[in-house]
Amino acid sequence: MPKSDVLTPIQGIALLCDSQGIIQQIIANNLGLAAAPLVGQALTTLVEPSSVEKTQNLLATLHMQGVAFDWLLYVPSANSVIGLHCYAGMVGGQIFIVGTPSQPDAEAFFEALMQINNQHQNTLRQMMKDLAMQRPTASLAQANRLDEFSRLNSELINAQRELAKRNRELTTLAQENAQLYQDAAAALQLRNEFISSITHDLKTPLTTIKGYGEILHRRVSRLDLAEPAKLTDPLATIDMTVQRMIEQIEGLLDMARLQMNDALTISPSELDLVALVQRVLKMLAPLLSRHRLEFTPQTPTLIGSWDLLYLERMVTNIISNAIKYSSPGSLIAVSLGRDPSAAPPRAIMQVCDQGVGIPAGDLERIFEPFYRAANARERGIKGTGIGLASVRQIIDLHSGTISVTSEEQVGTCFTIQLPMNPPSS
Ligand code: ADP
Repeated sequence: MPKSDVLTPIQGIALLCDSQGIIQQIIANNLGLAAAPLVGQALTTLVEPSSVEKTQNLLATLHMQGVAFDWLLYVPSANSVIGLHCYAGMVGGQIFIVGTPSQPDAEAFFEALMQINNQHQNTLRQMMKDLAMQRPTASLAQANRLDEFSRLNSELINAQRELAKRNRELTTLAQENAQLYQDAAAALQLRNEFISSITHDLKTPLTTIKGYGEILHRRVSRLDLAEPAKLTDPLATIDMTVQRMIEQIEGLLDMARLQMNDALTISPSELDLVALVQRVLKMLAPLLSRHRLEFTPQTPTLIGSWDLLYLERMVTNIISNAIKYSSPGSLIAVSLGRDPSAAPPRAIMQVCDQGVGIPAGDLERIFEPFYRAANARERGIKGTGIGLASVRQIIDLHSGTISVTSEEQVGTCFTIQLPMNPPSS
C-alpha cells in the first residue's frame, strides 16, 4: 500500500533525512509542498528564509538530544505560507521528521504512520508512543526553556565579554593612577628638598646681617650721642625683623624636614614661660606700639621644661599674627597660667585679638602648611601660611594641644596647653 494513502486523512509531511538534514525519502507529502523534487535537498531549502536558522537549531538539537518536539517552522505552500508543528527524531543515524499545521494532528499523523512496516518506522513508532505519553504542554515548555536557555547563554557570553573589557580598562586605569601617584610623590620630594636647601642658603646671610646689626647697636650705645634712640630704635627694628625672618625660615625648614620623614627632636631645658613671653613681647614692641597690649600672667613665674628656641618661635608666631590680623588701637590680650585640674600639670596660654577673625569654613585648615584663610588673602594681608603649621608642629613635639575660636570682624582666640614636662624628658 502506498504510504501517502495511509496518511490521506491528515494534512502533513513526513520525511526521512540523513544525519546532516539532506532529504532522502518522502514518506508523506499531502500539503502540496515544493513542486521541485525534494529528495537530495537540504531541509533548510524547504522552509521560509525566516525559519532557516531555527531549522539549523533543530538539527543541532537532534544531534545533542536525539529528539525535538513541536518546533514551529514556516514553509511555502501553493499560494501561501503555512506553519508546521514539527516533531523529529534521530533513528539509526537518520533523521525522521513530521510536520502538521495543527499540533493535535501530529499525534494522529503518527498513529497512521504506525501502520508502516519497516524497521525504521518500528523504532519511530516506539518513539512516538513515548512522545504521545508526554503532555503537549510539557513539550512546549521544554522547547521554551531551551529557547530561553540559549538566549540567556548568549547574554552571559556578551556580559562576560563586557566584563573582560571593563577589567582591561580598570587595569589600565590602576596603572595610570599608580604612575600619577609616583609622579606626585616625586614632585613633593623635589619641592621639599628645594625648600630645605634654599632656606638653608637664606639663613646664612640673615645671620650675618643680624650679627653686624648687634655690633652696630653696641657701638652706637658706646658713642656719647645726644639722642641715641634715634639710631638704636631703628637698629632694634632691623634686628627684630631679621630675627622674624630667621624664625620663619627655620619653621619652613622644619616643615620640609618633617615632610621628608626627617624626625624632629626637641631639647627641653628648665625655663620660665612668663619671662619667655615677656622677652618676645619686648622684641615685638616696635610692632605692638600702636595696639593696646594686656599681659596677665597668673603667677610671677611659670617654670617648666620646654625647648627654648622652639617655644620662642611658637609664642612669636601667635602674637605676631594677633598684631598682623587686627587694627591699630585694638586690644591684644595675652594670659598665662597653670591648669590646676590637669594631670600631669599643664601650662595654659591664651592669645586673643579683636581683629578680622577667621571664616568658619577656614578654621579647620589654618594649621595646614601654606594654607591661608580667604579673608586674609582678599584683604591683601601678607603672609606665607607656614606660621601656624610650624606652631602646631612645635606643640606636637611637646605633646601639647592648640585650639582656636574665632568670629569674623570680632576677633580670634588661640588657646595652647603644654605639659609642664614633655613626656620624653
Ligand atoms: P600667615 O603667614 O598667612 O599669617 P599662618 O600660618 O601664621 O600664615 O596663619 C595661617 C592663616 O590663619 C592666616 O593666613 C590667616 O588666614 C589665619 N590666621 C592666623 N592667625 C590669625 C588671627 N590672629 N586672626 C585672623 N586670622 C588668622
